[in-house]
Amino acid sequence: MLQEISQNKPNLIVTAHDMRMKRRLLLILIVIIVIIWLVGLRNRGTIGLSEAIAPELEIAALKQNLARLSAECKTSKLKYDPHLPIIYAITPTYARAVQKAELTRLSHTMMLVPNLHWVIVEDAESPSTLVSNLLKNSGITYTHLTAATPQEWKLPGKQGEQWKKPRGVLQRNTALQWLRNNLNADQDQGIIYFADDDNSYSLELFEEMRDTQVVSVWPVGLVGGIMVEKPLLNPKTGRVTGWNSVWSPNRPFPVDMAGFAINLGHFLRHPEAKFSFEAPRGHQESVILGHLTTRAQLEPKADNCTKVYVWHTRTEIPNLKYEEKLIKRGERTDEGMEV
Ligand code: UDP
Ligand code: MN
Repeated sequence: MLQEISQNKPNLIVTAHDMRMKRRLLLILIVIIVIIWLVGLRNRGTIGLSEAIAPELEIAALKQNLARLSAECKTSKLKYDPHLPIIYAITPTYARAVQKAELTRLSHTMMLVPNLHWVIVEDAESPSTLVSNLLKNSGITYTHLTAATPQEWKLPGKQGEQWKKPRGVLQRNTALQWLRNNLNADQDQGIIYFADDDNSYSLELFEEMRDTQVVSVWPVGLVGGIMVEKPLLNPKTGRVTGWNSVWSPNRPFPVDMAGFAINLGHFLRHPEAKFSFEAPRGHQESVILGHLTTRAQLEPKADNCTKVYVWHTRTEIPNLKYEEKLIKRGERTDEGMEV
């Protein structure tokens, strides 16, 4: 017995030592498995993208997705309602440092307006890549025209800053001629609005003008040296009796270009209606409206002209004094970039 015990004792010690070794090995094994599992988890994403699919296939799939999403965006955002008249928004635009910023902002407003047809007229000899691409990528229905203002008209007049001829006039007339050539008074339901590229527009404005029968009018913010230039209404009849304009108040229609809209059919039935280069400063609006309507006929919008839905904002000319120095050194910052 004793012997047995004495013989078994070393055996027992070996077994306990063995067990400890085994446990330690098992523990190490578990730790290794856990580490491998964790590393696997971390790499799963990159393995899936970079190794599982060939890069060309992946790019092709992403391109397809992009095309589908952009098509979806365009159709869902740009609603077309066959029962609503089309708003023909006429925008003269010209190349300058802030042009892309202005047109990007304006296009993002236009994208949200149902049944809008953007007639954009570049003051240039031929269409620019900047405007062409911006229009193409916007998903907006558009017509892209050009009409270059003759250089001599752009020279400053006697008062320094003043132009010899009013700005945007040639471009707006070009757009009006396009409407006459392409639309029919009896078939096409529409509204004409002059939307300069630097103003700020609320979406409500477009819904206000949509049912214009002849010519509609509303207040314009930040124009003519006052906070708001607005039509004044007869409280009994609700008809327009005049404007609160302070600058040149004796004009037949002392209203800004952004302050009225014209019914398309009515315009098409008046072939003489257009802007004139001979009119005195600030009289362009009066020239075209004089062909189309009388004060008494005007349709007041925007809650009886008590709301402001458009602002005659003007963008500050950016300070590019260092850019000019860099250009002289051949180091322009926008090389190969459209800003
Ligand atoms: N415009 C143009 N060519 C020019 C200057 C202006 O086509 O040489 C456009 C301009 O982009 C804008 C409209 O004509 O849509 C009116 O110009 P601007 O905003 O400078 O006039 P203002 O705000 O002083 O009435
Ligand atoms: Mn302006």
